[in-house]
Amino acid sequence: MTGSLFIITAASGTGKTSLVKQLLATTNDLTVSTSHTTRAPRPGEIDGHHYHFTDITSFKSAIEDGRFLEYAEVFGNYYGTSEQSVRTQLEAGIDVILEIDWQGALQVKKVFTDAIMVFILPPSLTTLRQRLSSRNQDSAEVIEQRLAGAVTEMEQYVNFDFVIINDSFEVALTELKSIIVADRQTLKRQQQRYHRTITTLLNPADPK
Ligand code: 5GP
Repeated sequence: MTGSLFIITAASGTGKTSLVKQLLATTNDLTVSTSHTTRAPRPGEIDGHHYHFTDITSFKSAIEDGRFLEYAEVFGNYYGTSEQSVRTQLEAGIDVILEIDWQGALQVKKVFTDAIMVFILPPSLTTLRQRLSSRNQDSAEVIEQRLAGAVTEMEQYVNFDFVIINDSFEVALTELKSIIVADRQTLKRQQQRYHRTITTLLNPADPK
């Protein structure tokens, strides 16, 4: 049995990490891949949990060794997804979420053509600005730079399969979960999961 790969992308400040965290807390057989990054840990971030924090030399040698399914430079730091750990989870029948930027998303789709791509948008630029301001202690100038970056990221939504507007957290969570739940009922997944049940249903010669 093979799990499905979900790619979740959003501009920074959209609330994607909180949504994914809550989704994981309420859904079985679902995990999020822990990325590698050259960025310094923020206060409270734990190595191996939030990210695998690494230096640029190790990151570049991992690229050369072909260990990344995808990688990208975002806001001056490198981020990448280990191919081996994603494949191991999928082969164990676990659904895997990649919480990555649009550049990485498009790279992954070329390798995992069945990957399900979800883009999360904020309800407005005003809300995004408010969320960025309340989250960081950044200057107004830095916030404006992040907003400009957010617009560039959001332009990529057209390349995704699903779009969620994160206005109400609860509504967005239900919508996100419904994508996972619907995928689990597709013909391909159900044939894998209920192979024996379906075989029995269709061969009534020996009814029990
Ligand atoms: P942050 O530094 O705020 O945690 O993340 C910055 C951006 O990098 C976010 O848009 C996040 O989705 C993206 N990102 C995190 N991990 C990865 C990864 O493994 N690959 C790619 N391409 N982007 C990532």
